[in-house]
Amino acid sequence: MARIGFIGLGNMGGGMAANLAKAGHTVRAFDLAEAALARAEAAGCTRAASAADAATDADFVVTMLPAGRHVLSVYQDQVFAAVPPSALLLDCSTIDVASARAVSAAAAERGLAMVDAPVSGGIAAANSGTLTFMVGGTDDAFAKGEPILAAMGKAVIHAGAAGAGQAAKICNNIILGATMVATCEGFALAQKLGLDPQTFYDIASKATSQSWSITSYCPLPGVGPTSPADNGYQGGFAAALMLKDLKLAVEAAGAAGASVPMGAAAGALYQAFVNGDDQGLDFSAIIKLLDGTQHKG
Ligand code: NAD
Repeated sequence: MARIGFIGLGNMGGGMAANLAKAGHTVRAFDLAEAALARAEAAGCTRAASAADAATDADFVVTMLPAGRHVLSVYQDQVFAAVPPSALLLDCSTIDVASARAVSAAAAERGLAMVDAPVSGGIAAANSGTLTFMVGGTDDAFAKGEPILAAMGKAVIHAGAAGAGQAAKICNNIILGATMVATCEGFALAQKLGLDPQTFYDIASKATSQSWSITSYCPLPGVGPTSPADNGYQGGFAAALMLKDLKLAVEAAGAAGASVPMGAAAGALYQAFVNGDDQGLDFSAIIKLLDGTQHKG
């Protein structure tokens, strides 16, 4: 069993650290928030006094932080100086490709192996250990990190070199964001045209429009399997996080010279939605913007 330093115990990291402890690893956990630390302790982790303390003597360091600037500062100011040279660093946060490559290069300069390993799946998947990891890094680093990631997920896929995990994540979410908007448009239009939502679901889920957004995450309550729509759009994957990922995707596309008009349009709609009163809701609640039922901020 490994010694793991876990930094960032929020909505996602809390459940992930708990699953590593449940798998028998020794998890030294750190977060700036006391409530997050207390939850990790109750789940079998040991409290660390700082990010550097969590990294000291660790075989693996896992980070699950909000954005690129947090990841850069935690590694550069705390982890790099504290961690043993043999340790593997795994950043599971969703961050921009450029920051992921920069932090991985800074680790390599110090002789430290690092992978970017962002996840697909929300808080429920983090809690149940059924995340999908998309991993960027060398073959050796991937092979070493895979069993640790597997203790938190149902699939661990090597996407390519450093930064490839983040690239895969934003490409996945540009498809997901645009597909969810199109799904909401279709279901809102179906209702306006007098179609019964269940009947249209039965058709769309077997016709050429079928997608994960329809058959696993239908944005209308009472239709399809249970989804955040059945819970007042609470929980799930917040619209603000989808906006974050679409911004990262559009930014990466600009740097790579790629054309992403649908992703940019979805981003503009999520920005408008997040500007309203419903910004904390799940990303499938974008249907409220399209059918005119959103509260205005
Ligand atoms: P969160 O805000 O709930 O958790 C982040 C945690 O990091 C917080 O507890 C915060 O206190 C802590 N933190 C911030 N700076 C820190 C520092 N310097 N040292 C130690 N702790 C620090 O966010 P989350 O929902 O858990 O998301 C984490 C990452 O996972 C994000 O990059 C997000 O985009 C990505 N993600 C989230 C979801 C989701 O459904 N929530 C799904 C997939 C990916």
